[in-house]
Amino acid sequence: MDKQNKLISRMFKNDAKVFENKNAFFGFVLEYFCKYFKIDGASFFEYDAENSFLKMKLHLKNGIIFEDEENILIKEEAVLNTAIFEKKPLAVRVFTTDFLYIPFVLDSHETVIVNNPQTQRLGFIRLEREGKKRCFSKKEIDLAENAVKELMRDLYKAEFIDLNKKYSKNILAITELTEIFATSLRVEESFKHILEGVQKYFGFDRVRLYLVDKEANKLQGELSVDISGRISSLSYEEIPLETGGHRLADIVLSKKRNPFFDRYTDCVLYVPLVIQGVNTGLLIVDNMLSQQKIEKSEFAMFKSFAGQIALVVDNVKLFDKVEELSLYDELTKLPLRRYFQERFKEEFYRAERFKQPMALIWADIDYFKEINDTYGHQIGDKVLKEVGRVIMANLRKIDFPCRYGGDEIIILSPQATGEEAKLLAQRLLSEIKDLRIPVAFSKNKFVNISLSIGISTFPNDANAGEDLLQKADEALYWVKSRGRGDIALYEEIEKKTGN
Ligand code: GH3
Ligand code: MG
Repeated sequence: MDKQNKLISRMFKNDAKVFENKNAFFGFVLEYFCKYFKIDGASFFEYDAENSFLKMKLHLKNGIIFEDEENILIKEEAVLNTAIFEKKPLAVRVFTTDFLYIPFVLDSHETVIVNNPQTQRLGFIRLEREGKKRCFSKKEIDLAENAVKELMRDLYKAEFIDLNKKYSKNILAITELTEIFATSLRVEESFKHILEGVQKYFGFDRVRLYLVDKEANKLQGELSVDISGRISSLSYEEIPLETGGHRLADIVLSKKRNPFFDRYTDCVLYVPLVIQGVNTGLLIVDNMLSQQKIEKSEFAMFKSFAGQIALVVDNVKLFDKVEELSLYDELTKLPLRRYFQERFKEEFYRAERFKQPMALIWADIDYFKEINDTYGHQIGDKVLKEVGRVIMANLRKIDFPCRYGGDEIIILSPQATGEEAKLLAQRLLSEIKDLRIPVAFSKNKFVNISLSIGISTFPNDANAGEDLLQKADEALYWVKSRGRGDIALYEEIEKKTGN
């Protein structure tokens, strides 16, 4: 083995070296060449293929490292083309200086992950010998080429503190996002959580979600979260899934294996959501407002999330479907609206036929959104569950409760008069007020829960089912608009307002 090769092996016998960042690594490389080769200076360039020039990043001369000093236009130094296209060293003399250009693939952690030849960048180490001393010999060229190869191998092994920092940040993002994903099974809220999580942890200006509607053959806008955290619906955006019709449709329909990367521009990232080769949607993140470039390392990282996001989105849709087929709400175990509607029809018919009274009790948790926002969704869920439990525990056998939607619960109370329904409602209010759901890290030890309740009765308030529902809702609205935490019978407010 040559003396210099031995030196190389000696210097790099450790598997991984720690450098502050990549510039530190290349500074070290330049110093290495100045130390072991008879030269007057050395530089590190990056090849900018788009603009066709070599951009100097570091220059070492007289023991001092300079940053960014010159750009070499390839047009003016046409001989460099050979070095670029054949990736072979090139020795040239310009006036009194000898240069030896040694190209190498400037792979980094990011481009290794990306692994796309089109995004592979070239770098050059240039050795410089001044004053017409002697040309670089064949042997020197071979040695230098080998040294570069060896050194670059080391580049992949080296650990960079700055990259490490980024990775730690990303790992934190993974952990927290995974938690969000794990709790995001509730259909209504989950898309919102996903988008908020993505925006928060990656710091994008805006995140938008589109889902593929296979039956209607369109891309359906779902939600968008903007830089101020505002969530808005994109339901007005419906894009037919036809090639050539719309940019987004083209991305979704693209047969290319990795439209993710091809569509990458500085500030926008299109992330197809793919599950087992099937495109289920599109997530678009952008920094259009701040015009901040999305770093390659970030999008590689984000790509690894895309699969997970796709799965969560799919789960949510599946959950939606399963719930559609079921009669009971998973969380509160109360019957669902569909089930209620059938039962309501039957009971209404019976009440009419047998001339029996019937009451509808419409309850809604007060400031429930605030409970979610203050203590988190899981506590919100617990509140719903507990409210459901208290209601079930207080009903007669013939009463029929239902989770009507969100935090609204309706109780159908056959054969009950307004007064009887009111008694039941009062019992519910008082038991729910006494619920103690503990919360950590809050100055209140327990969540304050209260209900507002509106009641309508048959035959007093209405003689059709829909009408009876509406009257209960109006009574509830009456309570809500007067401070909440109370009960109103429709017939009473009717008297009060003189309607
Ligand atoms: P108000 O006193 O006027 O009723 O105010 P509110 O905050 O309760 O407002 P609203 O009834 O509109 O809010 C219902 C909220 O319930 C919105 C939604 O975030 C939340 N929600 C709906 N379903 C669920 C669920 O299954 N779990 C949890 N944790 N929250 C839910
Ligand atoms: Mg509410």
